Amino acid sequence: MPGFELFGDLERQQVNDVLDNGVLMRYGFDGMRNGHWKAKELEIELENTLQSKHVQLVSSGTAAVSVALAAAGVGAGDEVIMPTFTFVASFEAIMMLGAIPILVDIDDTLTLSPKAVENAITPKTKAVMVVQMCGSMGNMDALQTICNKHNILLVEDACQAIGGTYNGRPLGSIGDLGCFSFDFVKTITCGEGGAVITNNKEYYTNADHYSDHGHDHVGSDRGAETHPFLGYNFRISELHAAVGLAQVKRLPEFIDIQKKNYTILREALSQIPEVTFRKVPDGGEESYAFLNLFLPDLDTALKVAEAFKTNGVDACWNYYSNNWHYLNKWDHLKDLKSLFPISTEVKEGLEYLKTKEYPESDHYIGRNISCLIKLSWTEAEVYERANKMVTAVKTVLET
Ligand SMILES: *Cc1c(COP(=O)(O)O)cnc(C)c1O
Repeated sequence: MPGFELFGDLERQQVNDVLDNGVLMRYGFDGMRNGHWKAKELEIELENTLQSKHVQLVSSGTAAVSVALAAAGVGAGDEVIMPTFTFVASFEAIMMLGAIPILVDIDDTLTLSPKAVENAITPKTKAVMVVQMCGSMGNMDALQTICNKHNILLVEDACQAIGGTYNGRPLGSIGDLGCFSFDFVKTITCGEGGAVITNNKEYYTNADHYSDHGHDHVGSDRGAETHPFLGYNFRISELHAAVGLAQVKRLPEFIDIQKKNYTILREALSQIPEVTFRKVPDGGEESYAFLNLFLPDLDTALKVAEAFKTNGVDACWNYYSNNWHYLNKWDHLKDLKSLFPISTEVKEGLEYLKTKEYPESDHYIGRNISCLIKLSWTEAEVYERANKMVTAVKTVLET
């Protein structure tokens, strides 16, 4: 991660196909396209890659989460359970539907604690959204069991986890719906883009219509299509889809590189007894997009993060009070700063955020350092990095 590190001829060729006929829109203009349907092709490619019956491309990962929830009927006043550790987009996407994000603790998988989920379920809970953060996953069997028992949806925000698997199945394809992002810093990028995947035909049809103003996409005359329900515009463009098409074909190559680099760094750090690693559930295989380590406590983790920085080890973060990935930095959401009025129901539904404490999440995020695994490092650079990391950690532990 990120895929842009390895842009080349394949991406250029795909984009040129689109520019040669000038049809930048994914729907219509059949006569002008010279047979190029990049968005359609990318959807088919993703159906195979993600072993999912249906894929709907959209304009971003944030849009994917909103569209997925909307497609399954989640809306005003419904509660959606999500983890305290995620990119802020997961929260925003729920809010956009007038639904209520219910934040619960994470565990050592760095995503939803099944126990915390179970405790948070109310009659208003419509969905549980697990966020497969940093290339790994939650305990999917436990989460699925809870959702089945309470008859609620399981949605996967797999925006950071393309290429990871659980019991041999691609992450994103396990829940009722899965969401992906292809923004500029993700493993597969197309600039801006996202995807909703599902095996449920009805959810797919809803996502297809909803993401294009409610168009039913029947027939080849766009002007004559009917609109069974209200929709918006979350379409992806052909130019973006073209870049994504080149990138997705390279996914196995990218995952191999990530795994190789990750393994070198992990083996080096494993020599230090005080360093432990995020738990990958049994049957899980990471995408190796990040290496997540734990130090003994917050203070040590902050010092190590600083020592990494001063020793030239970039792209490593302690998210506790830094960046946009943990609720400590979400004061604008806790204070409900909005440009426009928010419904009383949502306001009341979010009151808990002002006072609720998350000791388990603080415990894990406080001790964690997340290190991005890059695709463009040479082998020598990875070994040099491993040495620098080991030295930095040992120096902090000894002082
Ligand atoms: C990137 C990301 C998103 C949002 O994707 P965009 O394409 O940037 O809108 C949502 N959730 C997670 C976990 C992400 O990392």
